[in-house]
Amino acid sequence: MNIILQSGGLALVLVLIYFSITQKIVGLRSARLYLALLFCTLSSLIFDISSIIAITYRAILPSVVVDFFAKFYLFTLIMEGSLSFLYASFELYGEKRYKLTVLSVSAINTVAAALITFLPIGYVTDDKALYSEGPAVITTYIVALGYILGGIFICIKYKSKINKRRSGAVLNWYVLWCVASVIQFFNNALLIVGFATALGMLIIYARLENPEANMDRDTGLYNGIVLREYMTEKYLKNEPFSTLTISFDKSESGFIKKYELELLLEISSYLTSFKNALVFKNTSREFVLLFKNSNNLMDAYHEIYERFLDYWHKDIMLFPLYILLPDSTIAKNVDELNTYYSYGKVGRDDNSKDTVKTLDEAVVAELKEFESTKLFVQKALDENRLEIFLQPIYSTKARRFTSAEALVRIRDTDGSIVPPGLYVPVIEMTNLITRVGERVFEKVCSFLQRYSPEETGLDYIEVNLSVAQCEQEDLADKYINIMKSYKTDPKRINLEITESASIKAHDTLLKNMEALVKYGVNFSLDDFGTGESNLNYVVTMPVFIVKFDMSMTQAYFKNEKAKIVMEHVISMVHEMNLETVAEGVEEEKEYERLLKLGIDHIQGYYFSRPLAIGDFLVFIKEKNNLTEKE
Ligand code: C2E
Ligand code: MG
Ligand code: MG
Repeated sequence: MNIILQSGGLALVLVLIYFSITQKIVGLRSARLYLALLFCTLSSLIFDISSIIAITYRAILPSVVVDFFAKFYLFTLIMEGSLSFLYASFELYGEKRYKLTVLSVSAINTVAAALITFLPIGYVTDDKALYSEGPAVITTYIVALGYILGGIFICIKYKSKINKRRSGAVLNWYVLWCVASVIQFFNNALLIVGFATALGMLIIYARLENPEANMDRDTGLYNGIVLREYMTEKYLKNEPFSTLTISFDKSESGFIKKYELELLLEISSYLTSFKNALVFKNTSREFVLLFKNSNNLMDAYHEIYERFLDYWHKDIMLFPLYILLPDSTIAKNVDELNTYYSYGKVGRDDNSKDTVKTLDEAVVAELKEFESTKLFVQKALDENRLEIFLQPIYSTKARRFTSAEALVRIRDTDGSIVPPGLYVPVIEMTNLITRVGERVFEKVCSFLQRYSPEETGLDYIEVNLSVAQCEQEDLADKYINIMKSYKTDPKRINLEITESASIKAHDTLLKNMEALVKYGVNFSLDDFGTGESNLNYVVTMPVFIVKFDMSMTQAYFKNEKAKIVMEHVISMVHEMNLETVAEGVEEEKEYERLLKLGIDHIQGYYFSRPLAIGDFLVFIKEKNNLTEKE
């Protein structure tokens, strides 16, 4: 009697069942189907062994007993085939179609069971082999093969719609099953199909259903993979849900890093106390709570919000980003939902403490706008419709226009000019801003190559650098290469950085600045007077010019306190041997007052708006000559 392999398979399946049921289960369809498959494989192996025993002793056993074991074994093979088919294909169906498929499969299995019951079966034993044969066996092979072929067909045809790891593992299992069946068919003595099936279950376990792999190692919570599958299933079943995402991705403090594990454990145990929520650890620093409805969500959110106003481990205050999704039906599926999640995260003001973002219809509309703006800029870049406008900057010492700021413009398909206010703040959240920045820089270098300083009257051109660019390690290399390819004299370039860049990307920016300064490029600090203006940045960064933002310049004329601040800042900047630019000067009397104040450069509509290159050249020729004549 050859039952060694089957017994090995049985032991394997028992171990898998033990692992699967002792882990907590989130209730995924795939996990339920897998468990059903395991039990089916178990019964198949038990009936395989019992039927071998029964066939061996069929001389002394009543024939109904032998037939019962042999035929029940055949039926378990059909059950296995049908469950494997469902396991391979369930992701393709919504709730209704899934139920319909289960119903159809049950109907086929019932007919197959009836056929197996009533069709004759025969047994063969010789020196080497022991097996059953006859119409009942052939029926089983046909039906089981049908399921396997159906499963293979689905795995291949709907490759893109099925979890790749699932289709891969299921295909592995089918191959194993088929190879074993062929071997067993040609060598009846080798009863390896049962063992091969058990091995297949192990493959699926290792690749897909291992609950350990679906768990976050630190906290024991379900991870992002399970969250995704769970949400996918909810969409398939048309069951709306609500989520609360609590993210610490931006909390970079070293102190928090040091106690990260303790903090995560403390938070995870706090969050799991919400009994009406399923808690997931989506990424290394992000928790997601999933609720049945928005009432549960809001109650929990208010409580959690209060809790986070208090200290955690070792008196640490945490400032998470909360993303609330009251109703999952704003998206059609998980992929769409994820675009809203990512959108909820970008554009967050990094300096803000706690922040909450609600993903609702308004966000959906915003995102559509965001996408269309991105597309607009992308198209303009691809079709080379980006232009630079130059705004002249007047030097109060030289009494002529010695520099200009290059400002990006997009020429729309109808020829009109679109100013940056409409897209720069949007694309600043994406890497498109880098492409735009580099294109502007190339255009500036090409302008400098084409027109000599005598023609333009300019000592240098100021070019804006976005925060995202300042974060790039290779910024200096890229810009130096661009300057080399246009043979640009670095003295003719002045790059404008902002305080936000020096806060967000301090070390990288400093390295880039040092390399560029060494190459000969100068820097300005733009937008001074907005945000958290702090002269410390001027001291630590190699900037040579401080540009007062329009808001600060205008406040100087209107507000007594702002006037005092401005006067002190100017004298401090001058003491540091740096120069000043006032932006946003619109009227003659403003210009005159700034002249008296000792501002070095003045930029504003009083002189000129930003001009297209042709207009700029005309302007500069006329004005610089005029001023010289005065
Ligand atoms: P910014 O760098 O501070 O540029 C100065 C802005 O103030 C320009 O607006 C300019 O037209 C405007 N301005 C100058 N004088 C006056 C005035 O007297 N009155 C008024 N009302 N406005 C004045 P623009 O060209 O619309 O650019 C807006 C912002 O877009 C820039 O502010 C800069 O942050 C960004 N930007 C423009 N070009 C680029 C670029 O090539 N790269 C990057 N990263 N950002 C850019
Ligand atoms: Mg600027
Ligand atoms: Mg500015």
